[in-house]
Amino acid sequence: MPDISEAAGIYIHIPFCVRKCPYCDFYSITDFSRIPAYLDALHQEMALAEKVPLQFNSLYFGGGTPSVLSPDQVASLCGKAFSHFNFSDDVEITLETNPGTVDSNRFKAYRAAGVNRVSVGVQSFSNDRLRFLGRIHTADEARDAVEAAGTAGFDNICLDLIYGIPGQTEDSWIRDLETALSYSPDHISCYMLTCEPGTPLDNDRLRARFKPMDDQNLGALFRATGRFLSERGYDRYEISNFARCPAKQSRHNSKYWVSAPYIGLGVSAHSFIDPVRYWNHRSVEDYIADISNEKLPRAGNELLTRQQRIIEEIFLRLRTGQGIDMDAFDRKFGISFTEVFQDPVSCLTVRGLLKISGRRCWLNEEGMLFHDGIAAMFARMEF
Ligand code: SF4
Repeated sequence: MPDISEAAGIYIHIPFCVRKCPYCDFYSITDFSRIPAYLDALHQEMALAEKVPLQFNSLYFGGGTPSVLSPDQVASLCGKAFSHFNFSDDVEITLETNPGTVDSNRFKAYRAAGVNRVSVGVQSFSNDRLRFLGRIHTADEARDAVEAAGTAGFDNICLDLIYGIPGQTEDSWIRDLETALSYSPDHISCYMLTCEPGTPLDNDRLRARFKPMDDQNLGALFRATGRFLSERGYDRYEISNFARCPAKQSRHNSKYWVSAPYIGLGVSAHSFIDPVRYWNHRSVEDYIADISNEKLPRAGNELLTRQQRIIEEIFLRLRTGQGIDMDAFDRKFGISFTEVFQDPVSCLTVRGLLKISGRRCWLNEEGMLFHDGIAAMFARMEF
């Protein structure tokens, strides 16, 4: 696997959606009349951003729904980013797209604009599940979008799917995965549906308008996903992410799991350059107002303590199939991983959730299912 831990990434948030999905807690609005002013502000934010001595090898357009932007608008943002930041020649440029907003001509034009990786927000190939999720598209439109991405010549395509939807059986989920694999995607992200506080979905749950899937069934779907995809050559390299080969892993998203530096541009975007984290306003109007006053649109920042950095490093790396390189950890933090975390490591090893080989330890699939609780065991240790 290429060593990407030192190269940095740029994330650009495009906060516009045709309609809000009831389960979503990402920041987005449906007023497209704000797009021109927002894009001006994004260009301006890049001009205002400090020059950092980093080389970037990924540029990621996330949202929201970045595919509501025209290919010209995407090209213009790429051009501005390239003129302001130092990118490697082999930069990975990902655009998140949603069925219902794309066709093959649009995908071709995104390719011509420089995009070399697309993520298609399929979520499900079942109309019933799509309706539950409040998506704007049908199963046929999802199929059309995936086919259009292939027709346009993209050779790095990711499909996003959601499981754990009330009423979903293991058979129907596997049918979704089978349909996804019939397009031979390079990468699949499988997210477990969660009811995020404050979302309309969670309000419906609180009012007992539906019954969320219980942990036992969620666990069964998680295991079935790993089994089905690994038998077909897809490696679970992160809890929710599967790639056909290491080269098709998401270079950009991997930065989040190895504490590599990244800069987030746009409303609600977060940045991290160890040990500092900062984030932008979570309102398009506040964001544009600051930029109009030639101010960086920061809502806050945080200097991580050594303890926070250690806990985060463990939390994030245990999400990955690579896990923790204990020698690198010891060098980075000046403590002995093996000594400090001896108790959780031996307890998890005995319970068959953590694997150790040489100086590397990682959660196996069963351990990944209990990742949050396991990470909390490490966080409780004193160091
Ligand atoms: S399209 Fe994506 S970002 Fe927009 S509301 Fe739906 S889930 Fe959220």
